[in-house]
Amino acid sequence: MKIGVLALQGDFDAHRRRLEELGAEVVLVKKPEQLDGIDGLVIPGGESATFLKLLGEDGLAKVKDFVRAKPAFGTCAGCILLAAEVENPKQAGLGALDITVRRNAYGRQIDSSIREGRFLHEPIEMVFIRAPKIERVGPDVEVIATEGNDPVLVRQGKTLAATFHPELSDDRRIHQYFLDLIENNRPSDT
Ligand code: GLN
Repeated sequence: MKIGVLALQGDFDAHRRRLEELGAEVVLVKKPEQLDGIDGLVIPGGESATFLKLLGEDGLAKVKDFVRAKPAFGTCAGCILLAAEVENPKQAGLGALDITVRRNAYGRQIDSSIREGRFLHEPIEMVFIRAPKIERVGPDVEVIATEGNDPVLVRQGKTLAATFHPELSDDRRIHQYFLDLIENNRPSDT
């Protein structure tokens, strides 16, 4: 399985390592042409406004086409990019997930923390770094993980997004979940 990790900025290398540990072949995507021929795309954490700037209009359109057709997993800034609606401030999104996210929602004082949440009802460590909050979840969006009362990992069809950083914990379950999602999305050979 060939997975692309958007490698324009941010913590893409931790995703690369985790996906390779799980047996995937990883392509660090620095140019839109590299989106051809990959089975899924990870959009890492970083600064979502900077991603938008670096991608430019053309790059954004190509990523939009990709996420419409194939599985994508966004973490933190990546979650913000995949959303339909972004607040604080308002910002363009790819619209792959019918959610509203508020950037930097936890304020400056508690901008980074490690907390325990629940992934498919099981306890799991979650690393939050200047995290957004998912404030609205559309009717077709499934909540896969929670922290307190907040949805922190959501899925709509083949699109997955987390407000935390699973690539920074030792636990591999969330990346495995994404690889399983890609596997299940593959057209059968028959
Ligand atoms: N605060 C960043 C943003 O608004 C996201 C932080 C992160 O990706 N760790 O884009």
